[in-house]
Amino acid sequence: MEANEPTKNPGQAQQAPAEGQTIYDVAIIGAGPAGLTAALYASRAGLVCAVFERLSPGGQCAQTEHLENYPGYTRSTSGFELSWDMYEQAGSFGAAFIMEDVTSVDFSAEPNQLTTPFGTYFARTVIVATGAVAAQLGLPHEEELRGRGVSYCATCDGNFFRDKDVVVVGGGNTAAADVIYLSRICHKVYLVHRRDKLRATAIYHERLRELSNVEFCWDSTPEEFLTEDGRISGLRIRNGKTGETRDLDASAVFIAIGMKPYTAFLEGDLDLDAGGYIIAGADGKTAMPGVFAAGDVRTKDLRQVVTAVADGAICAEHAAQFLEAKEAIEEA
Ligand SMILES: Cc1cc2nc3c(=O)[nH]c(=O)nc-3n(C[C@H](O)[C@H](O)[C@H](O)COP(=O)(O)OP(=O)(O)OC[C@H]3O[C@@H](n4cnc5c(N)ncnc54)[C@H](O)[C@@H]3O)c2cc1C
Repeated sequence: MEANEPTKNPGQAQQAPAEGQTIYDVAIIGAGPAGLTAALYASRAGLVCAVFERLSPGGQCAQTEHLENYPGYTRSTSGFELSWDMYEQAGSFGAAFIMEDVTSVDFSAEPNQLTTPFGTYFARTVIVATGAVAAQLGLPHEEELRGRGVSYCATCDGNFFRDKDVVVVGGGNTAAADVIYLSRICHKVYLVHRRDKLRATAIYHERLRELSNVEFCWDSTPEEFLTEDGRISGLRIRNGKTGETRDLDASAVFIAIGMKPYTAFLEGDLDLDAGGYIIAGADGKTAMPGVFAAGDVRTKDLRQVVTAVADGAICAEHAAQFLEAKEAIEEA
């Protein structure tokens, strides 16, 4: 069998690598900015590394039309191009790419075991960099209006609506933080929330009260995106108590009703917080020795490309240290 061919009996519990099968030093799950940077650092450090990706490389970054806040990246190119550069850069140092969906893992096995629909792979360390996806409102035309006034990231897209009126939908900490952020750059911010008070922590309530250009639309749910020339021109909302509808004039609707990290395939192998994010330290370490978490999938304050790449680099560095320490113990 080829050295990197998987063991072909997925579904079976713990397996041993077949004779000649590659045991990767590092398996990276997810080829977004975090995974690609981890691959770059791991392969440059001489580690035998494989990146698993179920779609195409780049993750959410590849969907970003205008990436304005990645330092030094001032060319008017897209997140897709940046992702492709990252992918080629990691590959040029020897990272292998396995375009398969990791459907389950076994971190209690030695070496760690990763299963895809095509077989089972083995690795001494694993970096989970599977990212997250923003929850959608589920209104008609939401997908086609993404990037045309519908956004799931105020930090990413707020600047495109400088001095305009915008709407934020949500009631948790992210929605509150988005309103505060947008109130500094936009003319007016409507906050639409289905209840009569926010779920956000108390500190946000105080700060929000001080903002003069924020209007709260309580007990209200979005009903329809309003458009002009294929772009957002407003949002129709309905008050659940009175039944009345109201049209808010706005150039953008920021949806902040939660993110869903991709952790289902872990099946309880790692500790997750209440939101489903992998709990990891500043060094990327999870509770499982030799398993690290990078990027949007981990607990952190700011989910952006710049923090994802930093996480990837840190995880690769600590994976290398873990392997060195393990080798030293085995040799002693
Ligand atoms: C529309 C949009 C605009 C944005 N704009 C900006 C911006 O302007 N500036 C900015 O800094 N950030 C922006 N962001 C956020 C930024 O893209 C993310 O913070 C960043 O991509 C996170 O990187 P990541 O590698 O952690 O995860 P992701 O980019 O989500 O990549 C994770 C990858 O893992 C893969 N994957 C998941 N599960 C599995 C599995 N089981 N097996 C194999 N592969 C798997 C996914 O297919 C994906 O490719 C934007 C996000 C979106 C959606």
